[in-house]
Amino acid sequence: SIIVFGSLNMDLVVRSPRLLQSGETLIGSDFYMTPGGKGANQAVAAAKLGVLTEMIGRVGTDLFGLELLAELKAVGVGTDGVLVDATHSGVAMITVAATGENQIIGVFGANGNVDETDVERLRTKLLDTQLLLLQLEIPIAAVKQAAQIAHGLGVQVILDPAPVPTEAIAPLYPFIDILMPNEIEAGQLVGFPVTSPDTAAIAAGVLQQQGAKTVIVKLGAQGVFCATPDETFFVPAFPVAAIDTVAAGDAFAGGLTAALVEGASLRQAVVWGAAAGALATTKKGAQAAMPDRPTFNAFLTA
Ligand code: ADP
Repeated sequence: SIIVFGSLNMDLVVRSPRLLQSGETLIGSDFYMTPGGKGANQAVAAAKLGVLTEMIGRVGTDLFGLELLAELKAVGVGTDGVLVDATHSGVAMITVAATGENQIIGVFGANGNVDETDVERLRTKLLDTQLLLLQLEIPIAAVKQAAQIAHGLGVQVILDPAPVPTEAIAPLYPFIDILMPNEIEAGQLVGFPVTSPDTAAIAAGVLQQQGAKTVIVKLGAQGVFCATPDETFFVPAFPVAAIDTVAAGDAFAGGLTAALVEGASLRQAVVWGAAAGALATTKKGAQAAMPDRPTFNAFLTA
């Protein structure tokens, strides 16, 4: 089984003729709410692939909190480690203009209160888990404590370093088995643009010099570059007709962890991650776009 220690958010999306100017009111054309947060997305991605998955984090006492928990339960993610905190749930207010441009304001809400008490809840559950999946949408101090405890217990720790914080994250590397940035995050971590397998290889080398062990750089429609302490390899993306790349990286995390939990090699796990990421781009949305196991198996054997 795996544990995801991270964020849950409700995304509130409006369609607008154009982006707003200061003081302006516009009439939009559509509104929808969709559950998100990298933590919850990755938990859903893993659970839909059949991995026994638990979520640890916080939602607020509002209706969004209830809905976020219900969405996780609906795909079988264990939620008794999610605390309902006396504040509002994490939200992202998203405006999508007719031109396709967007503006997003995220507010952490309950996610921002995750602290050592959540890490204590995590500790008891780590005893019978194989893998801990982390991102950076909750306070970094809690992420570090979680990684440290899990590492000490011999649990495999994977960090998706998104969003990259202003403070250095290298102090986390000793407790992380796999560091998994996309190209933008890799670029922010190393301070030069990462846009290709070649630049990803250089970036992975820099991150390993800073103490990272295995580094996986997700390169969107190009594929995935991977550097372990022993070897490097590249897995090309699966050719698909992508319509919405939202949460492809979260789907990748689900595919990767599913393979690792089932005992596959890292190379096989990266292939599974790439397959889940590709499938997620063929559907709209985040959690709704995560492939289920039959779809995933059919895609891999096609
Ligand atoms: P993130 O969502 O974190 O930015 P990416 O966009 O790199 O991550 O997507 C994660 C993985 O999903 C990629 O490494 C790739 O394997 C797969 N993927 C993403 N976009 C596409 C695409 N257009 N076609 C095929 N596979 C894709």
